[in-house]
Amino acid sequence: MKLENKVAIITGAGSGIGRESAILFAKEGAKVVVADVNEKGGEETVTSIKNNGGDGFFFKLDVTNREQSKNMVKTTMEKYGRIDILINNAGINQDALVAKMTEEQWDRVIDINLKGVFNCTQAVVEVMINQGKGAIINTSSIVGVNGNVGQVNYSATKAGLIGMTKTLAKELGRKGIRVNAVAPGFIATPMTAGVPDKILEMMKEKTPLKRLGEPRDIANAYLYLASDEANFVNGAVLAVDGGLVI
Ligand code: NAP
Repeated sequence: MKLENKVAIITGAGSGIGRESAILFAKEGAKVVVADVNEKGGEETVTSIKNNGGDGFFFKLDVTNREQSKNMVKTTMEKYGRIDILINNAGINQDALVAKMTEEQWDRVIDINLKGVFNCTQAVVEVMINQGKGAIINTSSIVGVNGNVGQVNYSATKAGLIGMTKTLAKELGRKGIRVNAVAPGFIATPMTAGVPDKILEMMKEKTPLKRLGEPRDIANAYLYLASDEANFVNGAVLAVDGGLVI
């Protein structure tokens, strides 16, 4: 098992990619903190983990709330005594063309996708520094690398996460903490369920592998970066997009 005796916090683990990753990490031996604002989704993830014989618990977390982020770390330390992995996976999109985007849409997406990552990272960093070891993975996007029409807020956050990842890799590497990012292409989850079929078909057509990604494709990338197999990987942005160019 690749994550035996490790403790992982995964934000946004009540749905989609985060859920798949939480279940996979538990199968690989990790104790998993399923952190999500969505209580029902989070509890369902924990049930799946337990049904597979794994260990984990749900923590109701809004990543924009700094106190909740600190309490999540405190609760995890009380229960498991260490934190090896943080996956900053929670994220939302609120799409509109720039001329029509509201200030609320801009602020909400920045607050969750960018500040939320800062909040959770800052909350765990002291624990990881004291351990002299840790792995942090930030969920960027192909859209953060290339941009996408209608996603000026979202793409700004996902590009911002690449800058954060590279900076944190430099700041924290000497403390034994690796920080990397994954940049998914189009993945079949509730987030993309609202995208018109025509657009999804076009994305499939543009993808050399001729399919959308599955949550498991991203969970496998998180697993690699979180595991000791990636012990010399730091500051990387791993594209997991089937070769799609947008
Ligand atoms: P998803 O199925 O919508 O799951 C996201 C989860 O995050 C949901 O459970 C959501 O709860 C939760 N969440 C939302 N706001 C939160 C907050 N403030 N605090 C804590 N949790 C919150 O999305 P996904 O497709 O798995 O996406 C996971 C990550 O991958 C995101 O960062 C996304 O930007 C990124 N990504 C996705 C794709 C794709 O094609 N799907 C591509 C590139 C990158 P609610 O359901 O209650 O909102």
